[in-house]
Amino acid sequence: NQEVKSDLEIAQSAQLKHVDEIAKVLGVDIDELEHYGKYKAKLPLHLIDPEKIKKNKLILVTAITPTPPGEGKTTTSIGLTEGLNRIGKKTTVVLREPSLGPVFGIKGGAAGGGYSQVVPMEDINLHFTGDFSAIEKANNLLAALIDNNIYFQKESLGIDPRTVKWKRVMDMNDRSLRSIITGLGGRPGGNPREAGFNITAASEIMAILCLAESFQDLKTKLGNIYVGDTYDNTPIYCRDLKAQGAMAALLKDAIKPNLVQTLEGNPAIIHGGPFANIAQGTNSVLATKLGLSLSDYVVTEAGFGADLGAEKFLDIKCGYSGLSPSAVVIVATVRALKYHGGQDLKTLTTPNLDALKAGFANLEKHLENIAQFGLPAVVSINRFSSDSDEELAFLKQACESRGAKVALSEGWAKGGEGTTDLARAVVETAENFKGRYTPIYDWNSDIKTKVETVAKKIYGAGSVVFQAKALADIKHIEGLGLGHLPICIAKTQKSFSDNEALIGRPSGFELTVREFEIAAGAGFLVPITGAIMRLPGLPAVPAALHIDIDDQGVISGLS
Ligand code: ADP
Ligand code: MG
Repeated sequence: NQEVKSDLEIAQSAQLKHVDEIAKVLGVDIDELEHYGKYKAKLPLHLIDPEKIKKNKLILVTAITPTPPGEGKTTTSIGLTEGLNRIGKKTTVVLREPSLGPVFGIKGGAAGGGYSQVVPMEDINLHFTGDFSAIEKANNLLAALIDNNIYFQKESLGIDPRTVKWKRVMDMNDRSLRSIITGLGGRPGGNPREAGFNITAASEIMAILCLAESFQDLKTKLGNIYVGDTYDNTPIYCRDLKAQGAMAALLKDAIKPNLVQTLEGNPAIIHGGPFANIAQGTNSVLATKLGLSLSDYVVTEAGFGADLGAEKFLDIKCGYSGLSPSAVVIVATVRALKYHGGQDLKTLTTPNLDALKAGFANLEKHLENIAQFGLPAVVSINRFSSDSDEELAFLKQACESRGAKVALSEGWAKGGEGTTDLARAVVETAENFKGRYTPIYDWNSDIKTKVETVAKKIYGAGSVVFQAKALADIKHIEGLGLGHLPICIAKTQKSFSDNEALIGRPSGFELTVREFEIAAGAGFLVPITGAIMRLPGLPAVPAALHIDIDDQGVISGLS
């Protein structure tokens, strides 16, 4: 019985190349690099080449609706990159930076798994090159300037503290800071007001950094952040506080994408990390564009299921940046589909064709959705050791009978050797596709129509209910002249609907929008459905309890 090595053991036994070697593969002069030790470097923005971006191929990796047993988008993205390089396509994987919340909480790290990982895994998972810290500082500078402006009445803009929506952030799951009162301590402490913290990944600064295309654009977007209103209802933006210059200065390094490598020594660019349930859920535009400027293929991941990550990738990220994928890879697993088909979590490793057949409906809807965007899809079956041949054969056949390309992916167990079939299917699909994606809604339609269109076409909802607060927010947003912005629906990732218990392929349900948040800097509106958490708590037994470092500085227990 062969012992399965942990992700960290595999990562630590890899022979890493110097980052200069990785830069060479990309044709980047090593003088261009800003080194963070031997294995990490920042890339300058001037390497972005619009002609190359047009010519080279972007592959978007997304997945079925997430389930407790996991799907493996990051693992597949990295594995596919190894496979593409093996079949002769110069490929870079472009991913998000992990957040410390999940690293120390339930999920663990986000640098892939098994023999499909990006390295140095410990560094990538544990505050990496400090980008998140810079985002946190920029976010909290604005918070400090807002409270300071309220404190100094003479210079004050007259901000009504009750209207301030801007929260402080930090990169930690810490429920005790979610809702707090600041400004206690009498006169010297300022004005007591209800406030709170979000996790850094949920900061609008994160969303902005990941959509900004230059320093100038970054400053404009930061300046556009909506802060709140004055006592006589004049809207106040970050630019009114003159905060955007100093905030952008704090982000001078964070805006530059980070170069690292895969286990097989192929290039990986890792940059930015917004979540996909409340923000656009994908790495920075700059990182994607750099990747496409430096290699023939870029493989990138959008978070959670295709209803959230891929929809936002296309309607928001591609809408703003002009990017368009040449193929979409939908990651599915036998186990997760059986879960969608009603099989109990405890028995998921037991073969069950009936559950798989029932759960296939979830994948089918995601396939239909990618087709609605006018894009070609390849289903990647992420193989787990418990999958039976019969189940795998059924799943392949079910995909093919719906006209979808499908390939087995064994990147987790075998690295690039296990993904060459998938790589060939992706190349064939991408090279045959000459079109662009079609947005699912028109940014210029009214706000309700935009929400209803995504809800009905992508989620399968029958109707959308806008609660009183949501209706008032729509009026407010239109009054601010922001009704033309795209929408970034905040919804549970666990279901197509806003009720996480509705797994599989629910249809005809009612989607309830409680309220809207305004991300005027990032450039989108956030309709809130369900109970969305912007600062999670830790579980009873956090992953942090298993992490350690020895006297040689070797880290253990990261997963
Ligand atoms: P996602 O990006 O979809 O959240 P990840 O790629 O991060 O998923 O994978 C989630 C977890 O599942 C990781 O710990 C990874 O090591 C594990 N995993 C992925 N694929 C496999 C597989 N084929 N067999 C076993 N474990 C896997
Ligand atoms: Mg992932």
